[in-house]
Amino acid sequence: MRSDTTPAIKLVGLQKKFGSTIAVENLDLEIRQGEFFSMLGPSGSGKTTVLRLIAGFELASAGTVFLDGKDVTQSAPFDRDVNTVFQDYALFPHMNVIENVAYGLRVRGVGKAERLAAAAEALATVQLAALASRKPSELSGGQRQRVALARAIAVRPKVLLLDEPLGALDLKLREQMQIELKELQRKLGITFIFVTHDQEEALTLSDRVAVFNNGRIEQLGTPRELYEEPASSFVAGFVGTSNIFSTSESQKLVGTSSVVSIRPERLRLSEAASHDTGTVSLAGQVQEVIYLGAAVRVIVLCEQIPITVLHQFDYGPAPEREASVFVSFKRTDLVSLGN
Ligand code: ATP
Repeated sequence: MRSDTTPAIKLVGLQKKFGSTIAVENLDLEIRQGEFFSMLGPSGSGKTTVLRLIAGFELASAGTVFLDGKDVTQSAPFDRDVNTVFQDYALFPHMNVIENVAYGLRVRGVGKAERLAAAAEALATVQLAALASRKPSELSGGQRQRVALARAIAVRPKVLLLDEPLGALDLKLREQMQIELKELQRKLGITFIFVTHDQEEALTLSDRVAVFNNGRIEQLGTPRELYEEPASSFVAGFVGTSNIFSTSESQKLVGTSSVVSIRPERLRLSEAASHDTGTVSLAGQVQEVIYLGAAVRVIVLCEQIPITVLHQFDYGPAPEREASVFVSFKRTDLVSLGN
């Protein structure tokens, strides 16, 4: 039975094996209607396989895939109300832009006038109405990616699957397309499931993110939760930059016997130690100063342990290499990651 609280996607005990490789291991996941959901993880962590299992390009070794409350585990891709945008666009070179966008409607048997009108509307949504009669070879990379998006949304799927769709674009265009994607998702209200290995992209775009590692979800949460409260060393290290101290290092530095992490922007540099209550001040020597434009990244050796500090110029000029400094932080900014 479907209701408004029915998840757009529900995966139960999903597993995929390729020979002896377990690409996806016993995965349970619910993605809400209208959510911008990202699957983030390093190469080989299983995120693309999950996307392909949802699309129906792969069949599960075990478990169930529900789309909008309906079991589609054994259904063919064209019997699932989802559409996929690939990194390489996969446009037909011999068709012009509008024919490419109308293609999905054509194979669904939609009449010519109706499908051209729907394709024109989708093209207008991605601001490409003026290029309708061009061939894909006459477009830039960003324009091709927009055509691929228009083609995917023209059939008005309930769920749009995006497999590293911005991977082939340069940084500037990528940032521009990120904003456009987010706007498009808000406007259409479609559930977006986005696969990326770029943590910044996942944090910027998503309502929630699943961090994958070795075929499992290591942590699922909002961007803020993942960043502020990483549940493991893997997440703390993969999402943003973190200082992660082993049990022996945290014993030396802060007198606790668990693995802890702290973000570089939570650390302050000063010439004198801070004696504020609840503040830890460690004496150290500057090993490296890396200019980042808006700030500098300073590596300080404290007790022979390198600590990364993001130093904003608001807090004074950057220290010189080999200078003696204090690294200070609030004890409450330490995140415990267990033993
Ligand atoms: P990437 O970011 O590199 O695409 P990913 O996180 O999406 O990585 P998957 O492509 O899902 O990872 O792969 C997960 C594991 O399954 C890897 O070990 C991969 O080698 C293996 N794998 C994926 N597809 C196949 C296949 N068709 N045949 C055999 N092994 C596969």
